[in-house]
Amino acid sequence: MTKERPYVEKTVAMFTGLFIKANLFESAPSALSALIVRYVGTVKSPPARYVIDPVTYVFGVESEMHDGFGDDSALCHWRLLTKDDAARKLRQDYHIPETQEIPRNLMRDADTHGNIDPGSDRKVEALVLTRSYAHLADKIFADSIRRKVGLRALGQADFGVDNGVLDDFVGKVIDYQQGTLKRCFEGVKYQELGETLPGPAYILSPYFYIKSDESLEFMTSIWHSFDAHQVANGAAVTMVSKSYFMNSWREIACALSHLEAKTVMIWIPELQEDLATQDELVAFGQFVHTLASSNRLVINFYGGGFSMSLLSYGLAGLMNGPGYGLQRSAIPVKGGAPAASFYIPTLGVRSGVLGALQVMMSNPLIGSKQDFLDHVCSCPICRTAMSKSADDDYATAFWNYYGELVPSKTPGSNRLVPTRDATDRNAFHFLLARLLEFRAERQYSPAGSLQQLRTYRKSWPGRSGEHLDTWVRALVALENGE
Ligand SMILES: [Zn+2]
Repeated sequence: MTKERPYVEKTVAMFTGLFIKANLFESAPSALSALIVRYVGTVKSPPARYVIDPVTYVFGVESEMHDGFGDDSALCHWRLLTKDDAARKLRQDYHIPETQEIPRNLMRDADTHGNIDPGSDRKVEALVLTRSYAHLADKIFADSIRRKVGLRALGQADFGVDNGVLDDFVGKVIDYQQGTLKRCFEGVKYQELGETLPGPAYILSPYFYIKSDESLEFMTSIWHSFDAHQVANGAAVTMVSKSYFMNSWREIACALSHLEAKTVMIWIPELQEDLATQDELVAFGQFVHTLASSNRLVINFYGGGFSMSLLSYGLAGLMNGPGYGLQRSAIPVKGGAPAASFYIPTLGVRSGVLGALQVMMSNPLIGSKQDFLDHVCSCPICRTAMSKSADDDYATAFWNYYGELVPSKTPGSNRLVPTRDATDRNAFHFLLARLLEFRAERQYSPAGSLQQLRTYRKSWPGRSGEHLDTWVRALVALENGE
């Protein structure tokens, strides 16, 4: 989000809402609150909306282990420190009282990555918590649970059988979303501004990754507790592994359709829509359709090309950011600028710029700039790309605009990296193309969506368009109620 800020600022008026992750709020509260205030001030009709994603699942992700030590992850990372500093920092991060020993697996020898030599004064590596997640954890967990953060993946057992503990957690997550923006303005010059800001468009339930019957049971108890808090604009968040979803989507839909919360946000991290099987897409479509038929508003957290076609089957919305594109995996990645990758709207896939160019060049229908505009994209950014040179060589025009490279600034590296401009152009094209698709698809009937996919397939007759056949078959199966 911080990396995506320039795009958000320039395109802010076009979108129906902002989606902000709580850990980023914790790392840059003033920048993000300023962005939201500007957004709310700029976008009046329909009024600006934003959502704060509580990202609680991060605290439930199992860490990879090597020789008894955890790996770097979004939540924790190894840092070289003196022994004393390491001890101080670990006590602070994990809330370890002086009376208690520091767990051995939080410190290791910097060279061997094994146990440290107690007699040596050399520097050590300490598994410290990432500051933004540590701050978030301070705000949403009671002390008994906060002390386990980073030491183990949190799950049902940590919240015990006493519902009071779970209710307290759920209440804190709700309060966090409702109050965090207002609290940014407390005691400062613009305190009144904080009072008048609208709350988030939806309040999201806490959520953990559903992979088994036990984790579904845990999430169901979270959803029930969330219901009991009677949040008017509550959304039950459902993050579920693809394999569990395929076995149990009916049970999940049933549990969700009995909730008071009328909005469902779904995230299946491994579902890559262009690689998915027909069965997977049909199951996903039926899930959406089942919930939409029981008056649920279903929103896909990170939807791909096929999800656009599901707008006609009751999907209410989807979210896309240039940093991750069409799918987002469960393991949170650490920073890094979004790579330059190009989205081909008519194909519903996004890949590296060179890969995208190769796919286009293998398409016999694309030989000129006009062909590019007809079969790939005709958004204003692509039109600019094609108008930059006088001759009709679309490939060079494309590469000069979206694939522009400069030598890396990293010392000792002789790699070429995308220019800032090229990265921005790819990101804007992606956001704009998705928005144009969304506006069109939202108006379609199921027959219209099917027709659209068939038209796209005609633009991509070769192997690169084969997944469109799968999408077409999935829509036909949905239409026949299979
Ligand atoms: Zn475009």
